[in-house]
Amino acid sequence: MSATVEGLVIGGDRVAAAEGETFDVVNPATAATLASVASAGAEDVDRAVAASMAAYERWGALSPVTRGRHLHRFAALVEEHAEELALLECRNVGMPIGDARGQLGMIVDVIRYYAGAVDKFFGHTVPVERDGVAMTFREPIGVVGLITPWNFPLNIANWKIAPALAAGNTVVLKPASLTPLSVLRYAELAIEAGIPAGALNVVPGPGGTVGSALVEHPGVGKIGFTGSTEVGAGIARRAAAGIKRVTLELGGKSACVVFEDADLDKVGRLAPYGVFENCGQDCCARSRLIVQESVADEVVERYSETARNLRVGMPESPETEVGPLISAGQRETVERYVGIGLEEGARIVVGGERPNGELSGGFFYRPTVLADVRNDMTVAREEIFGPVVSVITFRDEADAVAIANDTPYGLSGSLWTRDGARQLRVARALRTGVLGVNTNSSVFPQTPFGGYKQSGIGKELGMEALAHNTELKSVFISTE
Ligand code: NAD
Repeated sequence: MSATVEGLVIGGDRVAAAEGETFDVVNPATAATLASVASAGAEDVDRAVAASMAAYERWGALSPVTRGRHLHRFAALVEEHAEELALLECRNVGMPIGDARGQLGMIVDVIRYYAGAVDKFFGHTVPVERDGVAMTFREPIGVVGLITPWNFPLNIANWKIAPALAAGNTVVLKPASLTPLSVLRYAELAIEAGIPAGALNVVPGPGGTVGSALVEHPGVGKIGFTGSTEVGAGIARRAAAGIKRVTLELGGKSACVVFEDADLDKVGRLAPYGVFENCGQDCCARSRLIVQESVADEVVERYSETARNLRVGMPESPETEVGPLISAGQRETVERYVGIGLEEGARIVVGGERPNGELSGGFFYRPTVLADVRNDMTVAREEIFGPVVSVITFRDEADAVAIANDTPYGLSGSLWTRDGARQLRVARALRTGVLGVNTNSSVFPQTPFGGYKQSGIGKELGMEALAHNTELKSVFISTE
């Protein structure tokens, strides 16, 4: 496959960067160059915001019903091109093709959800003391600036773009430099679907310049960010200067809590996918396996057996379950963490090495289970963002809840127990935004997604994302 040349998407056109700069994007499974991409700068952000403001005049003025119809057409077009987009994601992220197809399924569902939801999200009339009518209106914010990471590039961008557009805003998106390809193509499809030119602009480029320019731009009313807690905190500080609305989806160190009464066969077969999918590069990765002492040996054995047999391979092969990490640097980070874990007393049960043979040209690393971990060790505290799980044991329910909550993060988690009362008690006690009981999956277009504590502010998905993409106006008409 020869490398492509990719322009920015500004005002409905594919254009070169004002400074003429480009950067290369590689396939992490082979390190081969996939594309040369225009690298935006501050001037391009100005152009994109201007195009977005002009498009807002048209798009924001349409009725929600009409915007919904446009989004339905867009969803149909994305569905028609799902295989093409899945392949782009597979090659650029190293995501197994089966998983990439699954992501495209969710992407289409989310666009359809907001196409249908937007005319069911409205203000109210409110009883007040004076004679007249008090009412509220939901109104778009204007231009929304979005900044996204590389782990699920199109899915995360779409979680933000679909509700932002549905609510009547227009968008300037800065994707992660490592993975801009799928969203550039998606933006072309939006234009083809009749969404006005300029309503969705895409400006890949370095976070420090393009991301910062977007955060500080006076024409941008809201910033939606997904990425690391460190970068998110800096964005919140800078956005505060312009009193911009901000939503943040940040890091995680989520727990998979297994009680002795759980279906241990199911835990062993399924729970490993809750951390090793996408090679552990998942903000929701259940990277702490917190197991009751009485069944710890059995759970570690069953879990590790599944981890050992996960099919690590080339992402385009339909059998592959775990692809490469995104970059050489990310693999080095993972190796450094495993080294620190060993120094602090952890033991490798499986993994802890790079595969060789046909995989040696890419950034692969084997699914790794670290046992004998205490919750105060570095591997249990910091987000590794790779295929590494740390096993920690607990005595009783109170101990389990205390360990699971003893983290600065609070994004996701799983709980495995057959005791109904305990399911409810522990689900209520865990300080986390999203939780699956007896399952890894807990994310749906219809339900809010977002973190507690240092995992974020605000929610994606569900009606909550429309709330975050609108201003709420109160009007009182006096009849006195
Ligand atoms: P990152 O924070 O390094 O980068 C995220 C985005 O911010 C990129 O587009 C980057 O270019 C941009 N950026 C970097 N510096 C910036 C700056 N100074 N100003 C403005 N923008 C800037 O994160 P990453 O390495 O791309 O992604 C991994 C992180 O994302 C992990 O911490 C993971 O947990 C988190 N994540 C969270 C969620 C969630 O929904 N909570 C989902 C996926 C990933």
